[in-house]
Amino acid sequence: MKPDQNPNWFANNPLERLNNEKDNAAFVAERLSDPNSRIMPLWRGDPLVAGGKAGFLSAAALAEFPKDAAVVFLGLRENIAYFGVDASSAQMAETAPFADIGEYMAIRAAASIISRDDLAIIGHARWLFEWHRKHRHCAVCGALTDAIAGGAKRVCPDCETQHFPRSDPVAIVLALHDNHCLLGRGPHFPPGFLSALAGFVEAGETPEEAAKREIFEEAGVTLTDVRYQFSQPWPFPSSLMIGFLADAADKTLTLDTDEIEEAKWISLNDIRALLNGEERDGVFLPPQFTIARQLIERWAE
Ligand SMILES: [Zn+2]
Repeated sequence: MKPDQNPNWFANNPLERLNNEKDNAAFVAERLSDPNSRIMPLWRGDPLVAGGKAGFLSAAALAEFPKDAAVVFLGLRENIAYFGVDASSAQMAETAPFADIGEYMAIRAAASIISRDDLAIIGHARWLFEWHRKHRHCAVCGALTDAIAGGAKRVCPDCETQHFPRSDPVAIVLALHDNHCLLGRGPHFPPGFLSALAGFVEAGETPEEAAKREIFEEAGVTLTDVRYQFSQPWPFPSSLMIGFLADAADKTLTLDTDEIEEAKWISLNDIRALLNGEERDGVFLPPQFTIARQLIERWAE
């Protein structure tokens, strides 16, 4: 990896999105009928994985899917077009097409098996399908909308408003003080599974302001310096994770127990031991495909 490259899984999508060409319906249709084009089926948000790899199919396989299955254009690489097809449309039976050649696997499990390029492509497809599923109606007038531009947007036939896939910004912060970092967990995580604290950026707020507010609300910690590191598209379902390292004024914790069940300061030595796979006080660090882990690793360098 180049030193200036984003270290995060789901980032660095290798496809060219061709935003100008895909507005042309004929371009998308032509690519869809090209036998060299590749399609990735997702079943209820899970990608097809076959033989330890992402289970891309040739475009001809689209005939096996129902006519109303949603198809999205994902981009082009080396003149090969990539599409996603949502295999989980209402008309489908309980099993998806091509389940016999592999397994429709949860993305979090697939993340440690398939290539990072393929994971980024699949994350984009999942993001779009989830958005289409939840945005069938026009937010202005309530009419049913149509997907256009290879699924990159929807348009309302009544009021002509165009609707675009949304990204929900989240500030995620590794707070630091005196060679310790602050990790915590919400009540829905098992004891010991600790991570960097995070929260959605609210209306009228910068990510830095959200970082300061969240850490103070959840842990009672005042941040004095908030430094942006990198970001991550996180398709569960549509978060843009914005990662910060930040200095804390002191280590006193006042937890909001509705949000945070456990939080503690962990020393740099213990973090390095945990990153080496050693046991420390029953703590489990977040997996590598999370931006929280990447923030911890960046600090521990
Ligand atoms: Zn409308």
